[in-house]
Amino acid sequence: MIGTIPNDAEAQNVFVCSLGTSGGYYPQFDTPPTKYALDVGKEIYDVLCPKKCGRVDLVQNAYVPNAMTMTTGNGYSKIAFSANFMNGVYNAFGAYAGYGVFAHEIGHHIDLNSSFPAQMSTSWSKELRADAWAGCALAKLNLPASGLLESLRVIAAYPSQTHPAWPMRWPAVEFGYKSCGGTSLVNPAPSTSTGPNTAPTSTSTKASTDPCGCEKANRKCVTRIIDLDECISSKQSACVSACQDDVDETDDCETEVCSDESPKYAGWRSSCKATIKVANTRCAEVLTTCQSTCTK
Ligand SMILES: [Zn+2]
Repeated sequence: MIGTIPNDAEAQNVFVCSLGTSGGYYPQFDTPPTKYALDVGKEIYDVLCPKKCGRVDLVQNAYVPNAMTMTTGNGYSKIAFSANFMNGVYNAFGAYAGYGVFAHEIGHHIDLNSSFPAQMSTSWSKELRADAWAGCALAKLNLPASGLLESLRVIAAYPSQTHPAWPMRWPAVEFGYKSCGGTSLVNPAPSTSTGPNTAPTSTSTKASTDPCGCEKANRKCVTRIIDLDECISSKQSACVSACQDDVDETDDCETEVCSDESPKYAGWRSSCKATIKVANTRCAEVLTTCQSTCTK
């Protein structure tokens, strides 16, 4: 099943895949995903494993460079993604681009918790197996032709660091697609796939760095979050969830839609924003977390 339980016990999670530029993962910044993200994830999970293959939790995290998957190895995986990255691929590739990202990441979970419906090469790495599962999902999702191409272009454009080159990946994607009922598939030329290398805004570029730091010479802790807007952004999703859970009392949140964002982004980025009072409180919590880390 697909769900979200942010800030769960992280100690057991083992890193599986990270798309694009390397970056750290800081679970204290997990926030709930939007309903749209959950819906896309559920749609992919259900076509790949209708009889259920463990549990996948989706979380937004402003400090994840693009998207990444972690697993406990016993039927549970977590996929953390940057809303800015998802907005960026939506903008660069089209409305179905997110399906490509999630199909590959959920493919890692299915790979660990299911068996493929057809013979898969034993020489394939976990990344090629995830690509095959992604191809399988794309066949079963019945996306429009344009949406299928958008998804494929994103898969080609955002390899993980351990991914082999596209000429090796393409046969895996095509194998998965045809094994799951697809017929002909157009190979998107990765050289023409252009999009953001990491999350596309200045905020998310900053977000790929460790939010905490220590000036060890002075045994003094500092936070690299110096921009209140950046901090608010990292808390937006939690704010939306709070608004939705407590519609009568919105002390914590302003529910207005950010006027500088296109409505199409609302699928990936939460549209609530924290009040200044709450932002200050929550950003103080960030600093406290940093200080706690620093003194260990
Ligand atoms: Zn991967």
